Amino acid sequence: MEGLLSLEVGRAHVLRPGSGPEEVEAARLVPGDVIELEAGSMVPADARLLDSVELATAEAALTGESVPVAKDARARVEADDPLPARRTMVYKGTTVVAGHGRAVVVATGMRTEVGRIGELAAGITEEPTPLERRLEQLGRQLAWFVFGLAALTVLVGWFHEEPFALVLQRGLALAVAAVPEGLPAVATITLAAGVARMARRRALVRRLPAVETLGAVTVICTDKTGTLTTGEMTVTDIWLPGRAITVSGVGWSVEGQFWCRDHPITPADDIRLLDLLRIGVLANQAALRVEGGRVIGHGDPTEAALLVAARKAGLDETVLRREWPRAGEVPFSSERMYLATFHRRTDALLACLKGAPARVLERCDAVLASEGVRPLATEDRAGILAANRTLAGRGLRVLAFAEGSVDSAQEASLRKLTFVGLVGLIDPPAPGVAETIGLFRGAGIRTVMLTGDQRDTALAVARALGLLASESLAVDGSVLARSPPHALGTLAGKVTVVSRISPEGKLRLVEALRRAGEVVAVLGDGVNDAAALRGGDVGVAMGGRGTDLAKEAADVILLDDRFATVGAAIEEGRILLDNIRKAAFYLFSCNLAEVIVVVGAGLAGTAQPLAPLQILWLNLITDTLPALALTLEPGEPEVMRRPPLNPKAPLLPPGLRRGTLGYASLISAVTLAAFALGGRWYGPGSAEAGTMAFMTLAFAQIFHLGNARATGDVLHPTRMMANPVALGALVVALALQTIPAIWPALGTVLAVTRLAPEGWLLVLGLAAIPAVLGQTLKLHRRIRSAGGGRGTGSDSGLAHRSFIRGRA
Ligand code: ADP
Ligand code: MG
Repeated sequence: MEGLLSLEVGRAHVLRPGSGPEEVEAARLVPGDVIELEAGSMVPADARLLDSVELATAEAALTGESVPVAKDARARVEADDPLPARRTMVYKGTTVVAGHGRAVVVATGMRTEVGRIGELAAGITEEPTPLERRLEQLGRQLAWFVFGLAALTVLVGWFHEEPFALVLQRGLALAVAAVPEGLPAVATITLAAGVARMARRRALVRRLPAVETLGAVTVICTDKTGTLTTGEMTVTDIWLPGRAITVSGVGWSVEGQFWCRDHPITPADDIRLLDLLRIGVLANQAALRVEGGRVIGHGDPTEAALLVAARKAGLDETVLRREWPRAGEVPFSSERMYLATFHRRTDALLACLKGAPARVLERCDAVLASEGVRPLATEDRAGILAANRTLAGRGLRVLAFAEGSVDSAQEASLRKLTFVGLVGLIDPPAPGVAETIGLFRGAGIRTVMLTGDQRDTALAVARALGLLASESLAVDGSVLARSPPHALGTLAGKVTVVSRISPEGKLRLVEALRRAGEVVAVLGDGVNDAAALRGGDVGVAMGGRGTDLAKEAADVILLDDRFATVGAAIEEGRILLDNIRKAAFYLFSCNLAEVIVVVGAGLAGTAQPLAPLQILWLNLITDTLPALALTLEPGEPEVMRRPPLNPKAPLLPPGLRRGTLGYASLISAVTLAAFALGGRWYGPGSAEAGTMAFMTLAFAQIFHLGNARATGDVLHPTRMMANPVALGALVVALALQTIPAIWPALGTVLAVTRLAPEGWLLVLGLAAIPAVLGQTLKLHRRIRSAGGGRGTGSDSGLAHRSFIRGRA
């Protein structure tokens, strides 16, 4: 919770006299501060716009309005206009979904509009999780089952003309026996423990149901840039018509050299290179800042990398931007795929354009060649596209650059420009990603890469990450957009790489996958991921790099921005589902054993071996501790090497149900045996016989914990020690159970009397039978399956087989 809160502390980019743009906590803003707003960020205070470019905010949190509201610093607003109509204002708690702007803070904290409504703290939403809903359903079924059983025993008792008190007692005992009183608590604690375990592995859960959903994920749709790759871009290649240049240097370091065919070149003498670099600086929203003696890129990493490249050629962005004041811009958006700026110089208006090669090229009719500007011929176009393909084929992100004089600072005038060159940026695969993708493959989880980048770049990166089995599984977003719903379904079932995908395309794909029955996790960080994050079964956002918009849309936030952390979260989710099943298996076998004892004695016509109070004691005290310990059980060794669980499978799938019935029969058999033997020694229906039955049942249940701990295999000593809480629970439960035998006050309440040592010996001997038999059976299965050459045999036993996807 603390981690979540610290994440939710808003940050603001503020411009204060005497210092450059600064990042401060939103709580440190005061009225009068000038803040910068950009797509994806949360508005940190109520503020009046000073200027804006295509700014739009999502105000649902404030007004309930679901479509983004266009904001404009120059809009006309009347004094009595209602909140949603005040287009010159932005409000705290809303998010910028497009464009950017600057605004002056007018109200902070509780004086803001949101503060006034008092809806500041959204926090974790509390909705019943699928598990809790299933438990509720189970509870209803149990109630009917108990009702039926009770009616049956009353009828049988009436038929046997038994005294009413006995019939009533049996009915009560049944009701108590059939209901696993500890289960709701165990389930809730398991979920909470799951949240804690995920947090320890750097994944913060914002919405509780996500804990469970993670365990059932079958497909991961992930963004490429900054998720599979480091997102720390570096310009490595520049292509000018007829000339390929390479750039040395790594990361944000501004040290580097330009090379042409292994010869260093002097950028200052190279007008075409300088021209290209200048466009890169002008059509750019990013900034470089010096922090602790090192240059750090701020803003879009693609753009920061261009500033770094310009610095390597001795071009300073602050100087350039002062020389070429901006007279307008067309901001970047994922749909547009380019950014254009307009600059006035003497009487001419110059447009600078950079973006996806195809989008830039369609706006050009000339090219800047070595001999000067000339019309763009078909061969030029072919040459440019070939160069683009070469760069992209190496996994580089490619941007094209163009410039030209225009009549007005509008998007429509961006035509007949002059093509200047291409830039290739490397975005290296992040360490550990390839391994995690391999891990997912082994776990039956398909990874799908969704990127706005072009096909060749996407394929090269996918290949480097081992994501690609065959190229036929990679398509362009336009293919998805064109396909009708049913074709989309089949396509979605196979695809692993989608390039040139739009934000809507991402959402459509995610929805198609879900319709096909997949459980989809969406991983992303940008404005263009927000819709898909919300549309998936579980949305996962990067905590560090992610925009506020993405984080708000997500159910889980990765604190360390590492792809591998998703794997950890999924593993924890699977362990959690396993453990809930183990706990349910344990509790139900105990409860069923109690039911069989009561009904069995009733049918045999003997005295009642168990009092209702004894059963309640077992269910509340002795069973609950071991069941709680099960929720802390470490994962099965093969937890990430088997297919995902089917989320729709019942809480107890057939395999475990058979196990439940088997163990319940064993436990009740030894209990009834103890009652019969006690009856023979001390007299039928005597207090001693009852005590022996009660003790045998309790001990057998406690020992049964060993059977429930590992689903498949026999309990290996290391595995046994892996959950010290389980051993502790065993000891404490045994100790608690002996209290009524030595403390008369409790003994009287629970109808427990003293037993002779041989009585105790018999109790212990009988109680050990189900546990010993269970382990022997598992051992036998392992030996048999190992002999049969079935590998480890770890999925034998009371295993998951029947509820694992695709094997049902
Ligand atoms: P991605 O998830 O791959 O970053 P985007 O939607 O951000 O997808 O980008 C889509 C395309 O737009 C990129 O492949 C690139 O060609 C272009 N592009 C990305 N960032 C910028 C930018 N800052 N300026 C101009 N063009 C850009
Ligand atoms: Mg991007």
